[in-house]
Amino acid sequence: MCPGGTVVAATSEDGHVVTNGMSQYSRHERNANAAIVVGIDPEKDYPEHVFAGIDLQHKLEKLAFDLGGKNYHAPAQLVGDFLQNKPSTVLASVTPSYQPGISLGDLSKALPAFAIDAIREAIPVFDKKIKGFAMADAVLTGVETRTSSPICIKRGKDFQSINTRGLYPAGEGAGYAGGILSSAIDGIKVAEALAMEILKESP
Ligand SMILES: Cc1cc2nc3c(=O)[nH]c(=O)nc-3n(C[C@H](O)[C@H](O)[C@H](O)COP(=O)(O)OP(=O)(O)OC[C@H]3O[C@@H](n4cnc5c(N)ncnc54)[C@H](O)[C@@H]3O)c2cc1C
Repeated sequence: MCPGGTVVAATSEDGHVVTNGMSQYSRHERNANAAIVVGIDPEKDYPEHVFAGIDLQHKLEKLAFDLGGKNYHAPAQLVGDFLQNKPSTVLASVTPSYQPGISLGDLSKALPAFAIDAIREAIPVFDKKIKGFAMADAVLTGVETRTSSPICIKRGKDFQSINTRGLYPAGEGAGYAGGILSSAIDGIKVAEALAMEILKESP
């Protein structure tokens, strides 16, 4: 949850829409935003080949571009409508922060059915813990497809790649973190492992 944060465009390719949540130092923005993340399993959800996860990202980001109106607006829907499975047509009390803008509609087309079902189930449960999380006027903006890396470069107990000695896969891109803090922690772990290796090898 980013209190006082913004939803930002993280698109890196033509004809794709990707969102990401960003905490602001000021925490003074009008909205609080939170990514609702659904875990996906490589073996079950994209077993085709080693880069199939990237293909899935591309497919969903292209779909979001189309659903957003092919103008880099992001598809969006009010939580109340989403939970009732009806498309949104007008905003209510919440003004979304995503720039260049949003296109209201039906987000159930934007992600695989298992992900939509999980999000529909989760929002009322989160609301029990964080009162107001399921506020009907709250705006869902999509899609955040890059919460973590769709590939993982395998490494051993010594944090070295299992097939390339001296290579230390680390952080989000290598599939070992998702977010600033977990990436920093993984970086420290790898630095410590590297230091241990250097000590072991030095006379
Ligand atoms: C728009 C946006 C908003 C985000 N907001 C948040 C947030 O609010 N809170 C949060 O916890 N996380 C947030 N994240 C996620 C967070 O930024 C990442 O999880 C974190 O930065 C990953 O750290 P990392 O060191 O693993 O990789 P990165 O930060 O991606 O660092 C990798 C570095 O490697 C460099 N690099 C790439 N290729 C090469 C090369 N060939 N040679 C040399 N250098 C290279 C890159 O330039 C980069 O500097 C956000 C991400 C985005 C995109």
